[in-house]
Amino acid sequence: MTSLFPQPVTPQIQPTRIGAHDRPRYDHYINGAFTVPSSGVYFDTSDPVSGEVWAEVARGTASDVDAACRAAADAFENPAWRGISASARGHMMRRLGDLIAENADWLAAVEMKDNGKLISELQMQMRYMANYYYYYGGLADKIQGDTIPSDKPGVFNFTRYEPLGVVACIMPWNSPLPLTSLKLAPALAAGNTVVLKPSEFTSASLLEFVKLVELAGFPKGVVNVVTGFGNEMGEALVSHPLVERIAFTGGPQAGRIINEQAARSMKRVTMELGGKSPNIIFEDADLEQAVKGAVAGIFAASGQTCVAGSRLLLQRSIHDDFLARLDDFLKDIKFGHPSDPATQIAPISTAPQMAKIEEYVQIALGEGARLVRGGKRARVAGYPNGLFYEPTIFADVTNDMRIAQEEVFGPVLSVIPFEDEDDAVRIANDVDFGLAAGVWTQNLARGIRMTERVRAGTIWVNNYRSTSTTSPFGGFKMSGTGREGGIAGMMEYLELKSVWISTGVEIPNPFIRR
Ligand code: NAD
Repeated sequence: MTSLFPQPVTPQIQPTRIGAHDRPRYDHYINGAFTVPSSGVYFDTSDPVSGEVWAEVARGTASDVDAACRAAADAFENPAWRGISASARGHMMRRLGDLIAENADWLAAVEMKDNGKLISELQMQMRYMANYYYYYGGLADKIQGDTIPSDKPGVFNFTRYEPLGVVACIMPWNSPLPLTSLKLAPALAAGNTVVLKPSEFTSASLLEFVKLVELAGFPKGVVNVVTGFGNEMGEALVSHPLVERIAFTGGPQAGRIINEQAARSMKRVTMELGGKSPNIIFEDADLEQAVKGAVAGIFAASGQTCVAGSRLLLQRSIHDDFLARLDDFLKDIKFGHPSDPATQIAPISTAPQMAKIEEYVQIALGEGARLVRGGKRARVAGYPNGLFYEPTIFADVTNDMRIAQEEVFGPVLSVIPFEDEDDAVRIANDVDFGLAAGVWTQNLARGIRMTERVRAGTIWVNNYRSTSTTSPFGGFKMSGTGREGGIAGMMEYLELKSVWISTGVEIPNPFIRR
């Protein structure tokens, strides 16, 4: 481990054990202990820059899932967790936040090894991630019920919020720890226990992270991690009788399967799915800023972000000028190793994702979209096996094309012209998704009108990709159900109970409801 990453700052953090070929071997984490998979089988995880296998990860089965769910269910009933005050939970969470802040560079380095994202962005994300635990830790003892002014005399009625029990969280590979924390922090603050399943492509950072959870003082079994493939052990988790809620972030295909499975046992679900977000540039925008906004929308993180502004809607009067500016901005873009602070474009995170991008580029060409730039892999000196892909722009896209309707999850931009505000709204909303949108205009009234008319869970005016732990995030339409972040994100992990206490009323007639 020492040779692969910077050391964690906190000295008590135990090193991960070493398996075959001198590589780190990651086990499940169940009931406070690293646990070998019941099958005894591990799978490889590789570095997208070199293409080399660097670690092995436990291949989970239904029996591992069952052990983790039982541990979480027992921990939920354990007085060491169930019996402590919400303030004490908040205190533990703040301690976890401190440990994250202290060890942010180490967590960022592990995450970079698995998904190849820019270290500069990852370090910023990991430092910021401490805030999830500070914010929800602070909220833990501030969620309170109401006293209801009942219209029925002789009873006192109040409400209380209670944790659900065991929550299963399933994450994708593009931002493993921040997307985990968006679920874990409110779930813990609300008093639940948790079984986490990271993506099979990026399991390592979570298995390092749980060492911090343990140090922060959370009792055994409150947080568990099982690793493996969604199609092999996903259903065991989603259908497990001890699981009360599923919090899923991932693609619409897996989301639909999970939703159907969860519905059979009436489990609560939060679905954070994909998008095909419009980034809308009006002729009265500050075009210099808007060009940066368009780049941030689709080429940051190589477009591997759920909020990617993958449809660029350009008012016709500025269409050609804007495209030329965008093309110019991209001409000196720097590819390179994600650990180099000068690198702007890091590799695509996984080989299947690269194959998907290449397939969609062919689809776009077949549909008659005009390739303005990119459309092929980038060759980067020193990294012959690196999964680099050039920022790709298609013009002359019509909104009915697949390249305008389906999520690519890569650096591929579809440019669509529009005439006026009504036309922009029509095109923006003419899609199954509704995760996010950007609007660029210097006309305040128009900006406000657009926030009202575009159907998406997040709308940015004259900025793109701003998010905060304090603000709710989630989708309209096929982009999902429920919200993460902010107070709304915490409420997803609570049940509301109504309590009626007699203050001396007699039961007049037991056959008639009062
Ligand atoms: P994915 O749907 O393939 O996998 C996500 C997770 O689900 C993985 O852990 C996977 O193992 C698991 N999984 C797959 N099939 C399953 C099944 N049948 N049962 C249970 N679990 C199953 O997604 P991905 O390729 O890892 O991530 C990319 C997708 O995630 C994109 O569509 C992107 O838009 C979406 N995403 C959404 C948000 C958001 O907040 N809305 C954020 C990031 C990523």
